Amino acid sequence: MSLLLIQIEKGKKMRPFFNLKAVSERTLGHGFFIDSVPLSHILDLSTSPVYVTSLNAIAERISIYKKSLENYFINHSIFYAMKANYAETILQHIKETGAGVDIVSIGEWRAARHAGFSPQKICFAGVGKKEVEWIEAIEGGIGFINVEHLSELQDILNYLSTHKLKLSSLPILSLRLNPCVEVKTHPHLKTGALDSKFGILFEHFVNWINIIQQDFSTQQDFANWLSPLKGIHVHVGSQLMENKIFSLVIDKVLECAHFMFEKNMLPMHLDLGGGLGVPYEGVDPNGDDIKKHIELFSTILVNNIKKYEALQDKWGKKCENLNVSFEPGRSVVASSTVFITKVLYTKHNSAEHHFCYVDGAMNDFPRPSLYNAQHQCEVINFQEIEKLETQFHWKIVGPVCESGDFLSSDALLPNLKKNDVIAFFEAGAYCRSMANNYNLRKLPSEIFIKDGRIIKIINNELPPIQ
Ligand SMILES: *Cc1c(COP(=O)(O)O)cnc(C)c1O
Repeated sequence: MSLLLIQIEKGKKMRPFFNLKAVSERTLGHGFFIDSVPLSHILDLSTSPVYVTSLNAIAERISIYKKSLENYFINHSIFYAMKANYAETILQHIKETGAGVDIVSIGEWRAARHAGFSPQKICFAGVGKKEVEWIEAIEGGIGFINVEHLSELQDILNYLSTHKLKLSSLPILSLRLNPCVEVKTHPHLKTGALDSKFGILFEHFVNWINIIQQDFSTQQDFANWLSPLKGIHVHVGSQLMENKIFSLVIDKVLECAHFMFEKNMLPMHLDLGGGLGVPYEGVDPNGDDIKKHIELFSTILVNNIKKYEALQDKWGKKCENLNVSFEPGRSVVASSTVFITKVLYTKHNSAEHHFCYVDGAMNDFPRPSLYNAQHQCEVINFQEIEKLETQFHWKIVGPVCESGDFLSSDALLPNLKKNDVIAFFEAGAYCRSMANNYNLRKLPSEIFIKDGRIIKIINNELPPIQ
């Protein structure tokens, strides 16, 4: 009992848009509120399982990113990494904050355009872009492209130099550098080490420049051809919870920028990626996690740039003239959303093995089975508030025919009953966007709340029979 209460207290403090009442009040759907909308209302309007999002929680995070960047840099942008959650309502809402969007496929480009993002505020990342994809984006006036292969860079530069007269605007290209640093995170979330498929090694870039410049008859021709390359991009991993490596990352970036200056390029854009992790308890309600993240990068930049006078002349002593952007995904949306699911059955196989079967599954809420991620979960509506003293270490599992189908491998919760309602927190990032129809199940419902009102309900249907 006491542990349960501690968890609840913590939950209350950490997530200002979610209000979980004391256990004794959690019946009849009035013990859990999302931005002042009661659970009963949500259950009336949607079928379980359902994702419920507070749009205000998202706007607040974007605004903290923006305000923090303003403290250090004159020119800055936020490109929300929409692969974390591409619900159209979320995209439209983020667009209204003035932020841009980071895309990784032409599908995301079209969704971003459909949601109303100006092409100039879209940045195309991605390790395997097809030619037809980047051509569509360039013809559509995209503002930024981050390149991950030297042959991709060469193809895009050739295309731009051939077509520049008929294009309304040219994108700014950034080189995605593989800074070769080891970060502590799940192996599937690492992106900046030697064994990673992402980015370009500095040595390869140096060799490429030295060889390719021989193809040009004059230095000026070469400089013109290369002129769209104006930036450097790094993104070393996701769900990063330690920041010791960032100084090494910035060192690599500065080394590369210095080399570019020496070769008469003008790297004025630094895209520092996303990756800020979100802890089990949810994001910091005051946004201190974001403020510290930006402050850290600014401090490291200012310290490490001292070695490079030429860079300091262009960027300013405090790098204030640099165009700095971040591409956060998870840290913007993770804590905005809960995943709500209902208990179907329970089974006690032994004194240690307690199974709770819910109507949500790995294909609705995939992070536990994909990354072994642990999400805090709470019973938010009890059928009967009795026997709460008895708690079990439940394995919460779904209806999918896979042993890997679990939502929690160990949730300490009271004796659960059919139709009890469970919420999983931090369900806003890489959950709904990774959901699928495996086992021919329908996708979860979705509800979006803004300023205390439900503004959109999506009750997904079963997939069409093929
Ligand atoms: C996934 C990704 C991001 C977003 O990462 P988060 O951990 O969600 O902040 C940013 N940039 C690139 C290039 C990415 O691939």
